[in-house]
Amino acid sequence: MDSQGFREAAATAIDEIAGYYDNLDDRDVVSTVEPGYLRKLLPSEAPVEGEAWTDIQKDIEGKILPGITHWQHPGFHAFFPCATSFPSILGELYSAALSGACFNWICSPAVTELETVVLDWLAKVLGLPECYLSTGPTRGGGVIQGSASEAVLTAMVAARDKYLRETVPLEQFPEGSEAREDAIAHKRSKMVALATTATHSSTKKAAIILGVRFHTIAVHADTGYSLTGPVLAKTLADLRARGLEPFFMTATLGTTDTCAVDDFAGIVSTLKSDPVYPAGAPGELWVHIDAAYAGSALVLPSVQEQVSISLIENFHSFDMNMHKWLLTNFDASCLYVRDRNWFIQALTINQAVYGNKASEGGLVTDYREWQIPLGRRFRSLKIWFVLRSYGVKGLQKYISRTIKLGEEFADQLKSRPDLFEILTGPSFALTVFRVAGKEQGKSEEELNALTKAVCEKINASGRMWVTSTALDGSFAIRMVTSVSTTEKEHVDRAWKILVDAAEEVVKA
Ligand code: PLP
Repeated sequence: MDSQGFREAAATAIDEIAGYYDNLDDRDVVSTVEPGYLRKLLPSEAPVEGEAWTDIQKDIEGKILPGITHWQHPGFHAFFPCATSFPSILGELYSAALSGACFNWICSPAVTELETVVLDWLAKVLGLPECYLSTGPTRGGGVIQGSASEAVLTAMVAARDKYLRETVPLEQFPEGSEAREDAIAHKRSKMVALATTATHSSTKKAAIILGVRFHTIAVHADTGYSLTGPVLAKTLADLRARGLEPFFMTATLGTTDTCAVDDFAGIVSTLKSDPVYPAGAPGELWVHIDAAYAGSALVLPSVQEQVSISLIENFHSFDMNMHKWLLTNFDASCLYVRDRNWFIQALTINQAVYGNKASEGGLVTDYREWQIPLGRRFRSLKIWFVLRSYGVKGLQKYISRTIKLGEEFADQLKSRPDLFEILTGPSFALTVFRVAGKEQGKSEEELNALTKAVCEKINASGRMWVTSTALDGSFAIRMVTSVSTTEKEHVDRAWKILVDAAEEVVKA
């Protein structure tokens, strides 16, 4: 394909994509193909001769779209959204055109510098404390990662390195000595990462990958599924009594099941008065804030205040996915650290082939030292396009609108106490509910079975898709209203489908 061929093909591709969005609501939300459908439609070998673009493009509608579940569909109320927008898609297009493995500043100075600038912009929009800015007093800063899972792994690597540096004294165990290696190996066997039963599984996965112990703190409905200071204090004491060494914890702003927010004030106060390793002293517990989804709502000053975002200056790292709720397509996980040296010390390995004058001069940021892979894409471009196209006001308007849709949906649930019971929310456009019936003497098993039947029925409609969870043993439906194409009419439609299904199931 030459540049003229590209011009023509791209025009038809863009036209098809725009049409896809215009008519998205005509499709069912979830793909209904059978496993293995695609192998039956495709040849078993790659073509020997190149094919014409028109033939290739035809297969998008004919072969690929049947196997697509439409995450941008207005009836998509499942999981959390996976955002996109036209400015973001344009950012991806330019990024693909300027493709490179931009691991060092010199590999494309604009890639590094734009990332630093837009992540500072974003930190200010979200109201993050100054220490997370690249220009802040502690030389913090942000870096774009592929996912919240990658972000928590990166933070945990840095936390492990920091803890070992601070608790295996160099005077006693000199650098490079066998004694140091032994002391580190011994300590590693006792180090434990913490999370709660509501924390996303990515923290456990990071602990598994790193080969450190993992401890789960149980949280229940009595605290709104959030971690409190006293529970943390008791956990730390219990673990230490067993000879273990807690070094890392994920606290969450917007848990996956219910959008709970851990008690930041309680955690700060517990860690400040920790009898063994108080906050700020060597060996302190590294606290990573996972705000993968709900972090986007920090564009609203009222949310910044509600969750006391200023308190995270006491923590160590913070991550939010613009690709969930902030109109930027996958992947755009924005990870911030209070002191960039924590990443750099843990993740820098020099190899002659990557040496260059700019890096050696110490005046530039080389993001390869802030992440696990070497190469990296030009992801800041789409963030730049989104922030500029919508402006802070546009983003605030969009987030407020989707939160309001969630509140209206919860009001509808409340208007039918004979049919539904809200278990949590509405919180950040997520309400978790089940079929009512406790008062009428229905058992947990009966309620679970009824709720499951309703969930299956509404999903079978094709017009909407919700996912479920289990809260303290109760099967519950999660309804999310934050996809950008979802309007009031779609939530009303979902409500009608839900009421019809529940009435039918309860009567049966
Ligand atoms: N953290 C939370 C709170 C989540 O809800 C999710 C996914 O929904 C993740 C982390 C993992 O996100 P990612 O797919 O970016 O790894």
